[in-house]
Amino acid sequence: MPCFISDFQFRRAYPKAFVDALIREGYLAAMIPESYGGSGLNLTASAAILEEIHSQGCNAAACHAQMYTMGTVLRHGSEAQKERYLPRIADGTLRLQAFGVTEPTSGTDTLALKTTARREGDEYVINGQKIWTSRVEHSDLMVLLARTTPRDQITSKTDGLSVFLVDLRDKVGNGIDIRPIRTMINHATTEVFFDNLRISADSLIGEEGKGFRYILSGMNSERILIAAECIGDAKWFLNTGATYARERVVFGAPIGANQGIQFPLARAHAHMLAADASWEAAEACMQTHGGFAFAEEYDVERKFREARLYQVAPISTNLILCYIAEQVLGLPKSYGLGRG
Ligand SMILES: Cc1cc2nc3c(=O)[nH]c(=O)nc-3n(C[C@H](O)[C@H](O)[C@H](O)COP(=O)(O)OP(=O)(O)OC[C@H]3O[C@@H](n4cnc5c(N)ncnc54)[C@H](O)[C@@H]3O)c2cc1C
Repeated sequence: MPCFISDFQFRRAYPKAFVDALIREGYLAAMIPESYGGSGLNLTASAAILEEIHSQGCNAAACHAQMYTMGTVLRHGSEAQKERYLPRIADGTLRLQAFGVTEPTSGTDTLALKTTARREGDEYVINGQKIWTSRVEHSDLMVLLARTTPRDQITSKTDGLSVFLVDLRDKVGNGIDIRPIRTMINHATTEVFFDNLRISADSLIGEEGKGFRYILSGMNSERILIAAECIGDAKWFLNTGATYARERVVFGAPIGANQGIQFPLARAHAHMLAADASWEAAEACMQTHGGFAFAEEYDVERKFREARLYQVAPISTNLILCYIAEQVLGLPKSYGLGRG
């Protein structure tokens, strides 16, 4: 059954009703502590929420950042900032969906970013550009990483960047210009330009110059949560593929009765369970050692031979794939006399 979000993908619209429903039911406030109005769940439970959304064929990218971006405020913000923002993020009156880290010239090399924040009295003045800033058009707040100390004046290369919580509501068109980027997926991503944007000095999160560490600590949650989305997607693909393979009849039998169809599906499931992990690692380790992989003193060739056994015994991986195809994915039995 196609997910209702598909229509939004087709029209490239922002799935507002979907996001509103997740906010209303409290899912996006899963990791906000109960004392600030959230559910106080841990990362594992929050990952399960995103995995489930994706396993049902939906996509949480329209709003998943609301779950984890607030972590920067929670872990590094002042008590006043937490009390001011977290309860309102938890009840959905404020949306914190956006974070501006990536820039066109620095890309993955975050420490080379060029957007600057210069202190002037009780304000910071921000100039520069971000790219791939997703969901910013659908957000009230944005976590922004900018350089507060020039690179040639810092002693440690990870110093000199600072994190700000920017209230976008009266700033768009007033120091902030947002330009959408049309991408191959419906992702609501944009370029954001800062032209003498003035924000109050109390927008600074934590200590000036320590922002790179704060951003990294938030990204750890992001990586784990998005990995859970990938697992959810894998479940959806397998379920959808297996259902089709069971129902589609060609040459008088369901196509899923053929091992050529069922093995790739079963193998994908086995990879999720990490069944082939040791063999994949063995192959990589052999290749990495080159000629020395064959020398006994390195132990690699011994472990390689030993690890190969598990492809055959205690049970052959082909039969494991047959079992997964039949018992897990519900496909027709593909072995045994007359397939009986
Ligand atoms: C749809 C989308 C949404 C995004 N949303 C956000 C967001 O909300 N906020 C945000 O801040 N960012 C966001 N990003 C940015 C994203 O997180 C990446 O960090 C960014 O795209 C990487 O920069 P780049 O594309 O300029 O790649 P580059 O840094 O130019 O790299 C190009 C390629 O070279 C590879 N590469 C670079 N250096 C090395 C190396 N040393 N060794 C091996 N390979 C290397 C990279 O892996 C990449 O494949 C988004 C990106 C996309 C596409």
